[in-house]
Amino acid sequence: MGEDGRGNSHFKTSTRQAPRFAEDGEKGEEKEVILELKLLADVGLLGFPNVGKSTFLKAVTDAKPKIANYHFTTLEPNLGVVKTKDGNGFVIADIPGIIEGASEGVGLGIQFLRHVERTRLLLHFLDVSGQEGRNPVEDFYAINQELKKYSEKLSTRKQIIVANKVDIMQDETLVKEVEKLAKKENLKIYQISAATGQGVQELIDYVATTLKTLPKEDLIEIEDKVVYTLEEKQDQWTIKEENGVFIVSGKAVERLMGRVNIEDNESMYYLQKSLKSMGIEDKLKEMGVCEGDTVILADWELEWYE
Ligand code: GDP
Repeated sequence: MGEDGRGNSHFKTSTRQAPRFAEDGEKGEEKEVILELKLLADVGLLGFPNVGKSTFLKAVTDAKPKIANYHFTTLEPNLGVVKTKDGNGFVIADIPGIIEGASEGVGLGIQFLRHVERTRLLLHFLDVSGQEGRNPVEDFYAINQELKKYSEKLSTRKQIIVANKVDIMQDETLVKEVEKLAKKENLKIYQISAATGQGVQELIDYVATTLKTLPKEDLIEIEDKVVYTLEEKQDQWTIKEENGVFIVSGKAVERLMGRVNIEDNESMYYLQKSLKSMGIEDKLKEMGVCEGDTVILADWELEWYE
């Protein structure tokens, strides 16, 4: 023992491929991987629920968002492509209603905010009709506060104020206030009616032109990148003895047997050397393997020979 120049052990013959024992089979690794799909829209629609974002999206794109006169109409962000005159087009994402406290995970907000992250331009929708009793100036700051809390980067995105529902304004009080706001914040303002189409084309033209001046966001965001690696247990093997048969199983053995050609002498020599270096041979001997014993390696059944 131990002096054999060809290796300390070898197999006399390969007899046959062993049947697979279900209970011994190496279990496949199971991993739950959550992949987040981030929408890559050029333009995001911001605004409180019911300000008319879905209506606008439906009017200018081929998207078919649900429109209803109740809050949180939009539970999933909708995407739509706007076809521009020059044939370029751009993608608009309707960001479902951001509510105050969204950045702290209250309500639906936080999920939705994630979808605006990569947009290059934000259309900030404000309802200037007074129909819902909203104060558009307060709404503007509330939404921006949320954005800031969520992401400093996002809060610096260029915004265009969209004063919507001009078709049903009681008077001009609110729209005047929004105009003042735009001036103060140095933002462009468009007065539109998403419902009737008033002012919509002008807005789209302006968006298309503005987009040309804004750089595309780098699509790789390092802090978001999660690399999932399946644990490679290279040295994993186990041996058990059942009625005089030695069953060697595990990933390492499976991999080894996958590389071995059982009919080829050199390959068998490689196998023996590997069994030695992996410590399998010593373990088999320690367990009392004798000449003529059957050793199952992965799904190969071999006869031990010394
Ligand atoms: P979102 O929650 O911001 O997506 O708002 P929606 O697009 O669902 O609109 C809410 C309600 O306002 C719906 O009943 C729309 O028909 C209505 N609406 C939206 N835009 C306008 C508009 O410009 N004029 C009028 N009169 N109604 C509008």
